[in-house]
Amino acid sequence: MSNGIGVKQDNSGIGVKVQGGSSPYYGGGIRQPTRLAAPGMCFYHQQIPATYICNKCGRAICSNCAQGYGSLTFCPQCNPYPGAPQPQYYQPQPQKGNYAGAGGALIITAGIIGLVFSVLFLLISFSFLVGIVFMVVELVFSVLAIIGGICAVQRSSFGLAIMGGVFGLLSSGFIFGLIGLILVAISKHEFRN
Ligand SMILES: [Zn+2]
Ligand SMILES: [Zn+2]
Repeated sequence: MSNGIGVKQDNSGIGVKVQGGSSPYYGGGIRQPTRLAAPGMCFYHQQIPATYICNKCGRAICSNCAQGYGSLTFCPQCNPYPGAPQPQYYQPQPQKGNYAGAGGALIITAGIIGLVFSVLFLLISFSFLVGIVFMVVELVFSVLAIIGGICAVQRSSFGLAIMGGVFGLLSSGFIFGLIGLILVAISKHEFRN
């Protein structure tokens, strides 16, 4: 709204440049004279340079007055969310691969092959004692590989999954253990810990 002499008026009474209290142009001086901030100065602190513009009223404001809400900036009078927590914007999660699951499945396979071989060792061994030793060693490796493989499938423990891969590699199912170990090793980010 214009009063005809090129001075913008605003109903709030703030920010209006008035020369005197009883100017005839202002209906008998009802309005109190208000000093307008110099250009480039904060509307609320007229000695402090303005660094922001309020996104609602467009006033120039200093960094003390600027109140951010998300990517918006408001002056203290305009902030519709005073004290509100900052909005949480949706952030797309990086697409998670399933290398740990595949690696775990391979490590479990290595463990199962190891279990089968542990029985075979006992059956085909020329010496019962040697057969028992091979069987027990293979059995331990296989069980540890299966435990680690399950940890890899569940992504519960990267350390146990790597351990399972190593024992899978030492077992008779070493081909599966090797590939499984590599898959687990490159998928550390998929694990919770
Ligand atoms: Zn404002
Ligand atoms: Zn200020």
